[in-house]
Amino acid sequence: MPESTHYDVIVIGSGAGGGSLVHRLAPSGRRVLLLERGGYLPRERDNWDSTAVFVRGDYRAPEFWYDKHGDKFPPEVNYYVGGNTKFYGAALFRLRPQDFGEIRHHGGVSPAWPLSYDDLEPYYTEAERLYLVHGRRGEDPTEGPASAEYPYAPVRHEPRIQQLSDDLEKLGLRPFHLPIGVNLDQDAEGKAVHTSVCIRCDRVDGFPCLVNGKSDAQVICVDPALAHDNVELITHAHVQRLETDETGRTVTGVVTTLGDGSTAVFTGDIVVVACGAVNSAVLLLRSAGDRHPNGLANGSDVVGRHYMRHNNLALMAVSKEPNPTRFQKTLAVNDWYFGADDWDHPLGGIQMLGKSDAEQIKGEAPRWAGAGLAPKMPFETMAHHAVDFWLCAEDLPDRDNRVTVDGDGAIHLALDEKNNIEPLNRLRHKLQGMLDHLGMHPHLLDHSLYLHKMMPIGATAHQAGTVRFGTDPATSALNVHCRAHEVDNLYVVDTSFFPSVGAVNPSLTAIANALRVGDHIIDRLAGRPGGSS
Ligand SMILES: Cc1cc2nc3c(=O)[nH]c(=O)nc-3n(C[C@H](O)[C@H](O)[C@H](O)COP(=O)(O)OP(=O)(O)OC[C@H]3O[C@@H](n4cnc5c(N)ncnc54)[C@H](O)[C@@H]3O)c2cc1C
Ligand code: SF4
Repeated sequence: MPESTHYDVIVIGSGAGGGSLVHRLAPSGRRVLLLERGGYLPRERDNWDSTAVFVRGDYRAPEFWYDKHGDKFPPEVNYYVGGNTKFYGAALFRLRPQDFGEIRHHGGVSPAWPLSYDDLEPYYTEAERLYLVHGRRGEDPTEGPASAEYPYAPVRHEPRIQQLSDDLEKLGLRPFHLPIGVNLDQDAEGKAVHTSVCIRCDRVDGFPCLVNGKSDAQVICVDPALAHDNVELITHAHVQRLETDETGRTVTGVVTTLGDGSTAVFTGDIVVVACGAVNSAVLLLRSAGDRHPNGLANGSDVVGRHYMRHNNLALMAVSKEPNPTRFQKTLAVNDWYFGADDWDHPLGGIQMLGKSDAEQIKGEAPRWAGAGLAPKMPFETMAHHAVDFWLCAEDLPDRDNRVTVDGDGAIHLALDEKNNIEPLNRLRHKLQGMLDHLGMHPHLLDHSLYLHKMMPIGATAHQAGTVRFGTDPATSALNVHCRAHEVDNLYVVDTSFFPSVGAVNPSLTAIANALRVGDHIIDRLAGRPGGSS
C-alpha cells in the first residue's frame, strides 16, 4: 500500500481509455494512481494456444451476467493490466467524419456527437503515432482528412491476401490496407526483420501477444507511464463504489477491495472511471446515494442505457485454393459503409480476421452441426483452405438496451439482438456474392460452404455507449469534456461516452478521446483556461 492515499488524479481501469489517459498524465508530474482489478496477464505458451484462448476461454473473466430473461451467460471480458486490448485485434480505425453527425439507418437514427471529426483529428493523429499504427492514407474510400501520414507503412499482404485484393479491385471495389497497431519492422517482402519485436505470426487477432509485439494499452501506455515516479499502479484493486460529499458534487472516496481482501479508501482531486462500458455503468449505479438515488451522476437516467456492441459476424469462406497466410489481418473493404447501389442506408465494413486454425474450427463445429452444416472434411484441411472475414455493422443506441445491477450486485444486460440487424444481413450477402466470383468456388465440398457465426449476447468485445456525453444534462451523463454534469471532479474515459458507435472498431476513438480529456485535466489542475468546463 502507498504511504499516502491522496492523489491528484485517480484512474480506475487500465484499458484503452484508462491506460492511454495515464500515459498522457504521466509527464505532467501530477500524482496519479491507477487502480486495476486484474493483474498482469501471465506470459506463458498458452497465450498462443487456440484451445486455451478460444475453446476453453482460460483468460476470460470467470463471471456470468444475466440477460433480460434472467438466463446467465459468460461475457467476453478480460480483466488484466491493459484491459481488453490484451486480446484485441489492434485494428485501429478512425470513425468517419459523417459518423460524428446524425445518420439515418434502416432501423432508426444514429445520433450526432457533441464534437466534430475535426475536433478529434489531432488526437487521432497522436493516437496513431502512440499505438504504432501501420496503414496508408488515401486507399480507404470513406476515410476522413488526416493531418499526417500513418506513422508506419502498411503491413504488407501475404500472397493469398494480395491476390484477394487484386481480385476485389477487378470487381470494382476499393480494398485497402487495414490500419493495425503492431511493433513490426518489415523488409521489402513484409517479413519481420531480425530486430522487429513483432514476428509476424498467425496469432494476431484475439490472442495476447507473447512477445509484446502488439500495441496494447499495457505495453504502449501503462508500463512506460510507470517509469515516472509520480505514477503508481495497484493491481488486483477492485473498485466497489464511489462516495461523495454531502452536496453530492464531489467524489470524496474510492472504495476499493484489494487483493488480500481488505478494503482501502483512496482520495483524489479528480477521479476518472475507465472500467469498460458495462463495468463503468455498474460502478456508477452501485454508487447510488442520498444525492444520487438512481446512481452516481445519473439524474438523467441514461447511465447503463444505450448499450451498443456493433452487429458483428465472423464468416469463413472455404476455397479450393489453399490459404497459407499467417498474418491475415491486413485487408479491409468499406465500399458499402454508407450504402450500396440497391440500398440507401449504411451497411458497414468488412475486414480480415486473424487466420483460423483447426482447433478453433473444431471448437465451433458442434454449433454448425446443430444447424445442419456439419463440415465433411478434416478440420486441418478446412483450416488450410479457409479465408476469414469479420463484418461490422452499426447498432443503434436504444434506451432499453441496458445494463442494470440487481440487489445481489449481479450484472444484467438487456439487449435487443435484432437492433438495426438488416444492414449486417445485406453486408453478408454482398460479401458472399462477391466471393462467388473470386475462386472461393468451386469448393472442396459438395455445396458452397460459408460458415458464419452471429455474435450472441456474450459478445461484449465492442461494448460502448452506457455513460454517453452530450451538451444536455437531461439526455447525457457527461459534458463535452467527459466530466459528469452532476459531479465536478468525476470523469469517464472508456468507450462508455460514445453517443453512437459507427461501424469501425472503437479503440482508436477511445484512445484519442482519452488523450483529449487528459489535456483538459492537465489544464484544469494547472488552472489554465483549457481546464474550465
Ligand atoms: C477479442 C477482442 C478483439 C478486439 N479487437 C479489436 C480491434 O481489432 N480493434 C478495436 O478497436 N477494438 C477491438 N476490441 C475492442 C477493444 O478491446 C475495446 O474496445 C477496448 O479495449 C475498450 O477500452 P476500454 O478502456 O473501454 O475498456 P477495457 O479495455 O475493457 O478496460 C477496462 C479496464 O477496467 C478494469 N476494471 C473493470 N472494472 C473495474 C473496477 N471496478 N475496478 C478496477 N478496475 C476495473 C478492467 O479489468 C480493464 O482492465 C476487441 C476486443 C476483444 C475482446
Ligand atoms: S503477429 Fe506480431 S503482434 Fe501479433 S501475436 Fe504475432 S508477434 Fe504478436
